[in-house]
Amino acid sequence: MTSHIHYWNYPTEIYAGEDALGLLPSVCKQQHLRHLFLVSDQGLGKLGISARAKALLEAADIQVTLFEDVQSNPTTDNVYAGVAAFQAGRFDGVVALGGGSVIDAAKAIALVSRQATALSDFDWNVAFEKYPSLGSFPRLGVPPLIIIPTTAGTGSELSREAVITHSAEQTKHVVTHAELLARVVLLDPALTTGLPAHLTAATGLDALTHHIEALVSPLYHPMSAGIALEGIRLISQFLPLAVKEPDNMAARTQMLVASAMAAVAFQKGLGGVHAIAHALGARYHKHHGLLNAILLPYLLKANAAAIEEPLRLVARVVGLPGERVDDVIDWVVQLRQALGIPHTLAEIGMTGEESDLIGAAAVADLSSADTNPIALTADDYARIFLNAVHGRLTES
Ligand SMILES: [Zn+2]
Repeated sequence: MTSHIHYWNYPTEIYAGEDALGLLPSVCKQQHLRHLFLVSDQGLGKLGISARAKALLEAADIQVTLFEDVQSNPTTDNVYAGVAAFQAGRFDGVVALGGGSVIDAAKAIALVSRQATALSDFDWNVAFEKYPSLGSFPRLGVPPLIIIPTTAGTGSELSREAVITHSAEQTKHVVTHAELLARVVLLDPALTTGLPAHLTAATGLDALTHHIEALVSPLYHPMSAGIALEGIRLISQFLPLAVKEPDNMAARTQMLVASAMAAVAFQKGLGGVHAIAHALGARYHKHHGLLNAILLPYLLKANAAAIEEPLRLVARVVGLPGERVDDVIDWVVQLRQALGIPHTLAEIGMTGEESDLIGAAAVADLSSADTNPIALTADDYARIFLNAVHGRLTES
């Protein structure tokens, strides 16, 4: 191992540093993996990134088959096509190389390859009561996952969840299983330097949303709360730099680290931003990070009465002059603006129609709505959605 790559084991094995991708063959050998199913997408194919990973593995005598038929906001159809390709070969592991969509698809393919009905059996809305601890999940022998994110936002590389859109129903479902945690994660900042500024901004603000929603969640989890605060501090410092200087390797590294940390933070829960964003993403196919980035201040406003204490801590780590909820909201709005993110959902083409349907879908998304600081109703969610469409930030 070269000296500039740090090694951690929390909550799984993580290697972070420039050229960490180069460790892929040795990591696979350590895990006794010889026939790999490499999940990526066509965008990374065009950049030559998946071909580079494949060449690295083949040079080390590891067989690899590339599957790059993953769309953004991956669907159940996507997953089942991947499972068919996986089962057509004799693979002993899955490598995910991509953004959140690729990682979630790869995790779902690995899970469904062992249990055909896994997407419904382990849907969060069922699983969170049926399997209250990691030990209570049935052992499925899910093939080992090696995960290499190419965006700094999703955090999926360090979570036990995958978000999959139901092809027919156009709703997003969070699937969870103890065995969905990666064996090894490689965080290589060089893989993120090609990301255009608008995607660096949107994915980075997804990570910020993860940390803030986790911090204000009512669940008691001091370790995750501490991680959330440090994640917020890193993002406040390095996201503007990563957008402004795309090749700044220190900024890209810190954003990848902050993004991965967020998945550890959101073991404490997510909240209403994600509840609405999941509903909108499934129905209108908008970018998850962009939706969160636009929605975040509106939900902070709606939750204001219940989040004064945690937001005081946010104000301190960011270094704001004031410590009120509105001071933090102002900071988020200014950060968003500086990064070129719109202030309203109308600016990305939403009219507010189907607000009842969006409200109902948001409240039904227990993976996120359950840990919102205030128990919001479907009507509340519909109203907040409309506030975000029309830019009404003064109303809660
Ligand atoms: Zn998210």
